[in-house]
Amino acid sequence: MSIHEERDVDQPAIVIRNLDKWYGNYHVLRNVDLFVKPRERIVICGPSGSGKSTLIRCVNHLEEHQRGEIIVNGTALNESLKNIDTIRRDVGMVFQHFNLFPHLSVLENCALPQILSRRTRRKDAEERAMQFLERVRIPDQARKFPGQLSGGQQQRVAIARALCMAPKVMLFDEPTSALDPEMVKEVLDTMVSLAEEGMTMIVVTHEMGFARRVANRVVFMDQGMIVESNVPDAFFDAPANERTRRFLQQIV
Ligand code: ADP
Ligand code: MG
Repeated sequence: MSIHEERDVDQPAIVIRNLDKWYGNYHVLRNVDLFVKPRERIVICGPSGSGKSTLIRCVNHLEEHQRGEIIVNGTALNESLKNIDTIRRDVGMVFQHFNLFPHLSVLENCALPQILSRRTRRKDAEERAMQFLERVRIPDQARKFPGQLSGGQQQRVAIARALCMAPKVMLFDEPTSALDPEMVKEVLDTMVSLAEEGMTMIVVTHEMGFARRVANRVVFMDQGMIVESNVPDAFFDAPANERTRRFLQQIV
């Protein structure tokens, strides 16, 4: 089964232009530009508090920006609720802390969003849920509750749940940073296979092995700004900016 639908290959997946955001008086995003083509994978890294989460949360309007534009698959994010709905349908999100519904089974976590927001019939929703649970290699966990699973398994459920909605773009916000080390690989492997199938992805992560292997471009943020953006080899082997160099020395 294909994870992405036919689309116009000339149309950018995401355009972020001159984006500014404030939390009260705090200027958290400063004139951010980011352009993502279909099937591209962008890795965003940078120190804690630099605005990485805020930036990707703006893309599906979990946060509101004050200036600049965000266009997802040709739909401009503005006050129109219809546009926000359209964009949220196209954009899947995976969070650091999984954000599964603890009182619902793994199967129901994946089926219910389809039933509620896509009006999929229960039988079809459950079938699709099982397909994607197989895809992330945990179909045997379908009847359990999230709390009965390891962190790595829970994160794979979260990925399956997002994929059930047939997103055109996936946003990942530090998907492995809450996991015990031995579980990081199983989640990264799932993301690598998504990338290999051509999913458009923005991934906030400090997993630099993943970035080197999967990213088309690595972006470094500091103090609300994109300070450096380059292809992985150049980014890691010859960072142009002093702040990028210092950051890379600290994490590797
Ligand atoms: P990162 O993901 O890079 O660690 P965040 O986007 O979470 O950074 O946060 C950027 C800055 O904005 C931080 O200084 C953080 O404290 C602040 N911040 C984040 N969310 C809020 C909020 N809801 N209200 C006020 N300040 C916030
Ligand atoms: Mg963050």
